[in-house]
Amino acid sequence: MSSAALLMKVVASSVRAADKAAELVRKIMKGGDLGIIDKGGLNNFQTEADRSCERLIRATLAAQYPNLKIIGEEDEAADASSDAKSGMDDDVLSKACPESLKDVKEEQIVVWVDPLDGTAEFTQNLLDHVTVLIGIAVDGKAVAGVINQPFYNYKAGPDATLGRTIWGVVGVGAFGFQRQELPADSMIITTTRSHSNKLVNDCIDSMKPTEVMRVGGAGNKVLKLIEGKAHAYVFASPGCKKWDTCGPEAILHALGGKLTDVHGNALQYHNGVKFPNTAGVIAACSQHEWFISKVPQSVKDEMKP
Ligand code: AMP
Ligand code: MG
Ligand code: MG
Repeated sequence: MSSAALLMKVVASSVRAADKAAELVRKIMKGGDLGIIDKGGLNNFQTEADRSCERLIRATLAAQYPNLKIIGEEDEAADASSDAKSGMDDDVLSKACPESLKDVKEEQIVVWVDPLDGTAEFTQNLLDHVTVLIGIAVDGKAVAGVINQPFYNYKAGPDATLGRTIWGVVGVGAFGFQRQELPADSMIITTTRSHSNKLVNDCIDSMKPTEVMRVGGAGNKVLKLIEGKAHAYVFASPGCKKWDTCGPEAILHALGGKLTDVHGNALQYHNGVKFPNTAGVIAACSQHEWFISKVPQSVKDEMKP
């Protein structure tokens, strides 16, 4: 058994759990029967991949950390029959745990699982929008996260190796991707493509972007930020939940960025917190305060924390 700090072990196990979940997503996609259920509301679906991946991630983590609090989007029980022996990622274990997280106990941790983010896009075959998200909160703050993109590279042809894993810990850094420079004189805002409304659009308009990149998934949009493909993720609407933001927020924060609600307030991730991010999401690698300052008062008035 590794002598690493508990927090780093949970991250290392989460990386492996997300890798296994990604394999399962690809298998279900290949099988062709997505088992789509409409959960009600606007573009709010669940597929066999959402259900199976949550069961698998729960079983994998619960086998190693029986008392860990796990909150998942689909509320599926751990699958006792699944192979829970997935081990830990060596890369994560090779990094030193920040001093402030060295003594974290299991009771202080909540793991937020979005087994499949971007489900609406998954059902529409927009496969690179899909991610598996695992967020790790300590005392209510997002401190570590995993974003697995199961179909990364799928446009490169049938022989391409699919998928990649991005992970990060605040105070350690984030790994598994490359950052490019954003074009000079551009201001690119990424936002929802399937849950848009007047508030979302009013908020974006007030920032006068040179381009609006409408893509699916909270995980996918934070990837656009950290890879240097967009300046800000702007979503002035209450539909996004804690399992959408915990992992991506931690990764962004590990790189010096910030993710808050439209008022600039930090999001809370303790056990018992309400799931919806009722006051929306504004995220950026830099100049986050500038984006907050551009949120119209009319939008702020509509979005209660
Ligand atoms: P999007 O940017 O539309 O892909 O949404 C990011 C995340 O928030 C996804 O997990 C969506 O399912 C969720 N989400 C956003 N708006 C809504 C909504 N109106 N109803 C249900 N889920 C939503
Ligand atoms: Mg989601
Ligand atoms: Mg989901």
